[in-house]
Amino acid sequence: MCKGDNLHMDLITKNFLKIKKEIQICERKYNRTPNSVKLLAVSKGQSINKLESLIQSGQIFFGESYLQEALPKIEKFKNVEWHFIGTIQRNKTKKIGELFSWVQSVTTKVIAKRLNDQRPSHLPPLNICLEVNVSEEKSKSGILFDEIIDLADYCISLPHLKLRGLMAIPKQQKDFTKQRQEFNKIKIMYENLLAKGYPLDTLSIGMSDDWEAAIAEGATMIRIGTALFGPRN
Ligand SMILES: *Cc1c(COP(=O)(O)O)cnc(C)c1O
Repeated sequence: MCKGDNLHMDLITKNFLKIKKEIQICERKYNRTPNSVKLLAVSKGQSINKLESLIQSGQIFFGESYLQEALPKIEKFKNVEWHFIGTIQRNKTKKIGELFSWVQSVTTKVIAKRLNDQRPSHLPPLNICLEVNVSEEKSKSGILFDEIIDLADYCISLPHLKLRGLMAIPKQQKDFTKQRQEFNKIKIMYENLLAKGYPLDTLSIGMSDDWEAAIAEGATMIRIGTALFGPRN
C-alpha cells in the first residue's frame, strides 16, 4: 500500500464521520426521529481500497449502479448490504436478484417479474423501491406519478419481492428551497401511499449536493457518493 492510499483513507474516514454527525444535526433541526435516516454509500466508480477503508469505519450499506463493476466488490466484501441503484437491463436480472439485498431502481413489471422469478428461494425476499421520475424529465429514468399505484400493486403480489418504498433523483437545483420543492412532491406521494395502507418504510432521496433538503422532506435513506469518497474514476 502506498502513501497515497493512506491519505485517501484518512480523508474518507474524516468525510464519513463528518457526514454521520451532520445527519444527526439535520435530524434534530428538521424534527426527525433520531437515527431515522440511513446512509447508503454509493461506491460506483470508487476503488476497492476506498471501500475497504469505509467498511473499516463501520459503514454497512453500499450502492452500485453497474453490475459488472459491482461483481468483484461483492465477491470481496461479504458482510456488506448491497443495493442496486442503476438502470436494470433484462439480461442482468438473474445476477442482480442473486447478489443484491435491495434493488432501488425498479421501473417496469417485466423487470419486477424477472427479479421475483430469479430470486433464489433460500434467500429472503428482495427489497425493492420503485424509481420515480419526480421532475418528469424526459432524459431521466423512472416511472411517472400516475404509474406508481399500478406498479406497486403488481410488486406486492410477487412473493419473492418486498416493496419497501420509493427512490428518486430529482433534477439538480442549487437553491435549497427549490431542492425542497422537488423532494416535497415525492414526499407527498410517499405519504399518500402510507395513508392508503401500503406497508412502506423507505423514502430514498438525497445525494451529495442536496441531502440536507432531502432530510428536511422526510428522506429515510440518503445516497452519498462523491461527498464520501471524492471524485469518481
Ligand atoms: C451516483 C448516484 C448517487 C450518488 O451521487 P453523488 O452525487 O456522488 O452523491 C446516488 N444515487 C444514484 C441513483 C446514483 O446513480
